[in-house]
Amino acid sequence: MAMASTPPDLDSLRDRPSSPEIRVLRPRRAAPADAVRPTRAEVNLAALRHNLRVLQRHAGEARVWPVLKADAYGHGAPAVARTLERAGADGFCVALLEEAIELREAGITSPILVMSGAYGGGHDEVVQRGLVPVVYDRGQLEELARAVRQLGAAAPHAVHLKIDTGMARLGVPLADLAPFARSLHEFPELRVDGLMTHLACADAATPEETAHQLRLFDEATATLGRHGVRARVRHAANSAALLRGESSLDAVRPGIAIFGVSPVAEGEREPLSSELRQAIRVRTEIVSIRELEAGKPVGYGALHRTSRPSRIATVPIGYADGLSRKLTNRGHMLVRGVRAPIVGAVSMDMTMLDVTDVPGAALRDEVIVTGAQDGPHGRDHIGAHELAAHADTIPWEILTSISRRVPRFYREP
Ligand SMILES: *Cc1c(COP(=O)(O)O)cnc(C)c1O
Repeated sequence: MAMASTPPDLDSLRDRPSSPEIRVLRPRRAAPADAVRPTRAEVNLAALRHNLRVLQRHAGEARVWPVLKADAYGHGAPAVARTLERAGADGFCVALLEEAIELREAGITSPILVMSGAYGGGHDEVVQRGLVPVVYDRGQLEELARAVRQLGAAAPHAVHLKIDTGMARLGVPLADLAPFARSLHEFPELRVDGLMTHLACADAATPEETAHQLRLFDEATATLGRHGVRARVRHAANSAALLRGESSLDAVRPGIAIFGVSPVAEGEREPLSSELRQAIRVRTEIVSIRELEAGKPVGYGALHRTSRPSRIATVPIGYADGLSRKLTNRGHMLVRGVRAPIVGAVSMDMTMLDVTDVPGAALRDEVIVTGAQDGPHGRDHIGAHELAAHADTIPWEILTSISRRVPRFYREP
């Protein structure tokens, strides 16, 4: 492949007057056809459909709007959205306007809720693309109403109003609701179709904080009602709230559960989590293998030293692929159906495994970083929770860290 063409002149980009139209510069994701390295993420589309069905069944009357922010939690938003739309999802949620535009460009016609709202412009895009923005300040109402008028778009344009019931992130605080409701009446171009709030502690073992937030949400709904603001749908639940069976209201916004990862720590799980199937599997292969005597150093900084005659395998995945450097000397990967410990420092492009106890481990053997493996020595599974525990983080960060250097392959098993 030829080297990239001349990069854009940064000064000219900076000096350009801010235009109403947004240009989204998309970093290039490694394409399956470019994949030479055996490292890749396989996304099981049947697992996504299965998880949607499990959640729909559990949500009862409430509609299920999968959250596909951050490139569908690293799974690739266009492919995930197409799969779920065909499987009957009622609508989608994203965080950013850019993410909603990407879905529209991929041919997604379902309603899309832009949860962070439009900030820094883009209201014209919201209207032209038929997106539903979340609103929480007066400036957004003014800008959206202006866009609807200027574009001569069909009015009223639907918005969802976000209420802050205890997250202190986005949303109209309860104390400001009455004046906000009054200002809504100044904008006949807009219609509040939905009311939403976000729960801070839905995955906690105790339900008090969530119950408190839901009481405030009811209070806010009543206040708005007294000021003539009545919405068709109310929604609050993320994956954890949905799985715990709290607060389904009229719609639910599951993110991580759609991808088959429980939002709840092991040991505190409700039974439903066991029905979910992790959709992503990150696999690579052994590209080098060596025999070392006892007492030999392995990797940068010699952070591991063999304690016995050892077989050390090298796999081409490192922190630039999203494998946290915190996994240095911590955790495992699967080889031939059994666990091989990670030894030494995780480096940018490579990681070493101790395969001394994996009989027959050889060049080109498949290695699983997360997901299940069937091998001659057994069957095992490394879930996103296990990786997160070793990397001192949460499964959400594990999924969204799989970098764009790792091509995504879609499977329909
Ligand atoms: C990310 C997000 C969700 C989904 O959260 P999960 O825990 O992944 O289910 C729902 N609502 C809002 C507002 C979010 O930002």
